[in-house]
Amino acid sequence: MKKKLIAGNWKMNGGLAANEALLGAVAAGLSEACADVAVCVPSPYLAQVAGLRGPVALGAQDVSAHESGAYTGEVSAAMLRELGVQYVIVGHSERRQYHGETDEQVAQKAQRALAAGLVPIVCVGETLAQREAGETELVVRRQLAAVIHLNGHCISEIVVAYEPVWAIGTGKTASPEQAQAVHAVLRAQLQAASAKADRIRLLYGGSMNAANAAELLAQPDIDGGLIGGASLKAPDFLTIVAAAS
Ligand code: PGA
Repeated sequence: MKKKLIAGNWKMNGGLAANEALLGAVAAGLSEACADVAVCVPSPYLAQVAGLRGPVALGAQDVSAHESGAYTGEVSAAMLRELGVQYVIVGHSERRQYHGETDEQVAQKAQRALAAGLVPIVCVGETLAQREAGETELVVRRQLAAVIHLNGHCISEIVVAYEPVWAIGTGKTASPEQAQAVHAVLRAQLQAASAKADRIRLLYGGSMNAANAAELLAQPDIDGGLIGGASLKAPDFLTIVAAAS
């Protein structure tokens, strides 16, 4: 059985002292047999967290679609790798929404990550308007299709996160049934593309918290969580990890 993965997405939160306190509390609360745990931290703190992380894997929140060169402000996959990063979120809805990232750019980023030996956590998810228009399946299948045929890389090396945009940071969670239904669609799409699709971890994200995690994580195709707000409070994050273990 594959281990579940609980990945915290700190977004643009944190500070040197706060990071140290949060990681110390998280590391102290983890047991050996627990789920895989990662934290995706702002770039300036990657080096700090690499030194503090203990059993927690290090993740970044974005990566450049380019290899190197004249791209002011961007961070390459090789740089992340050199700092000890294992996971990188690509195509988060906040990047798609506020930075106009396209499916094609998300695929390029996933490709760069894989080429550098990082595991991309590819985010897909529909907006409320898309859900209400009955387009959920169409949207997530299109977003996943963009990364499914990456040149020379095995699709089984990625992690996929289903994050309905209407559930992110809103306190509104998809019901376990709603989430499972979309995860089943994504799983079937992955199975059609790869014989190793059952190994791919499909995370749910969107207001997952200490109270609702167990029910969501009990669904057959939910293999973990991408946790925003609740990853900033050690007791809540640890409760979610325990529910996945
Ligand atoms: P949330 O964020 O848990 O605060 O809803 C999840 C995410 O955006 O990854």
